[in-house]
Amino acid sequence: MLDLGRRTDKGEKVKAIDATQGLTQLEEAQRIVLESTPILGLEKISILDALGRVLGEDIVAERDNPPWDNSAMDGFAVRWDDIKQEHAIQKTVTLTVIEDVAAGKMPSKSVGARQAIRIMTGAPLPKGADTVLKVEDTEHTADSVRVFKPEQQGANVRPQGEDVKKGECIIGKGTRIRPGEAGMLAILAKSFIFAYQRPRVAILSTGDELADLDERFSEEKIINSNSYGIAAAVQEAGGIPLLLGIARDTPAALKDKISQGLTADILVLSGGVSMGDYDFTKAVFLELGAAMNFWKLAIRPGQPLAFGKIQGKLAFGLPGNPVSSMVTFEQLVRPAMLKMSGHRSYGRPVVEAVFQEKFSKRTDRRHFLRGVLTREEGVFKVRTTGAQGSGILTSMVKANCLIDIPVEVERVNPGDLVSVQLLSGEAWITHADPAQTSGHPLSCC
Ligand code: AMP
Ligand code: MG
Repeated sequence: MLDLGRRTDKGEKVKAIDATQGLTQLEEAQRIVLESTPILGLEKISILDALGRVLGEDIVAERDNPPWDNSAMDGFAVRWDDIKQEHAIQKTVTLTVIEDVAAGKMPSKSVGARQAIRIMTGAPLPKGADTVLKVEDTEHTADSVRVFKPEQQGANVRPQGEDVKKGECIIGKGTRIRPGEAGMLAILAKSFIFAYQRPRVAILSTGDELADLDERFSEEKIINSNSYGIAAAVQEAGGIPLLLGIARDTPAALKDKISQGLTADILVLSGGVSMGDYDFTKAVFLELGAAMNFWKLAIRPGQPLAFGKIQGKLAFGLPGNPVSSMVTFEQLVRPAMLKMSGHRSYGRPVVEAVFQEKFSKRTDRRHFLRGVLTREEGVFKVRTTGAQGSGILTSMVKANCLIDIPVEVERVNPGDLVSVQLLSGEAWITHADPAQTSGHPLSCC
């Protein structure tokens, strides 16, 4: 393990040991981040707010579903014994209809010998009956029914408890709520559930060169895009973004904003951790009592990164370049947010895809190339979005995945298999037109 000037929890300085030009492997940084990340408490939420949330309790069925045997079809509830013999000698069977049971009603009578009860889909099966004949397989009047196609014993009956049995744990603690789970919660009459809290993430951009969207824009300024990209990434990961705006490049401004951010669960700062101003951010972080790591990560984009705790809250100092801040958010902040909010796995889905280009690099860093993943004739194929500079935010706009090229790989050729992290659920199953510059199905260019 590399130890790059990290402070221990007791606040003692540990001397930097810099065995590999000071580079820290991403896996090592991820391990430290996740080990430092607490899991948030629970809160009671409405079933209508449950989508994407993580369940903080086991949901045990308090009754069977369906609660009684019921009909899967509109038809007639009958006794199999009445029709099986006639069926065997290929005769039609005529039964007396003694009641009509609509869905939402309980039958008041039992089906006796050579009797039937007309029944609607979902209605409880009357006592005595064990089979439902589909209405289209009969000829009927108000008080009799002739059966032509008797099916089998038990046909079209949904037995009590076939879906859910009373006493069983149906949805476990730690499950992410999807539409299926939401429907099941309703079946189990859970209008409120306990879920893990959503992490509140304070977002701070730093730099004298930045102008915010509501400021008058002058030529020498750069628009603060990181706050908005990161806020969206926070929301996508299920968190609540709190925008702190821009801290100017003075220790006082930075200190003031960071202190405001400590009401949140996580503070994400971008900019001010590259070589030029690294020491300045570092000094403020340390002054606020932080047990911080200052890493040069062995990844591209996104080399400089600060991580630690300030007054017990997780604090990340991400690189300022827009793509670097997004890629480092993906690899470090997002997993921490997912852990905090009770998820059991913290990574994006990964698939193997056939690389379509030539790519070479030095063997000192893991690269995350922005890519377009398509599926052609059953095979996943991936190409880059084009220019890969850390200031080229269109590479993120065009991408539906990150192509993960390991540290030790020097060259990738067309036809080689590469690992791909999927950035969005829907995009990777689209069949993108290779003539388009973007893999996004709604792209205009
Ligand atoms: P820094 O890490 O502060 O040296 O910034 C590196 C690069 O990222 C510079 O070109 C900055 O202008 C740019 N940058 C820093 N913060 C932001 C931001 N919030 N939005 C857009 N670009 C930024
Ligand atoms: Mg700066």
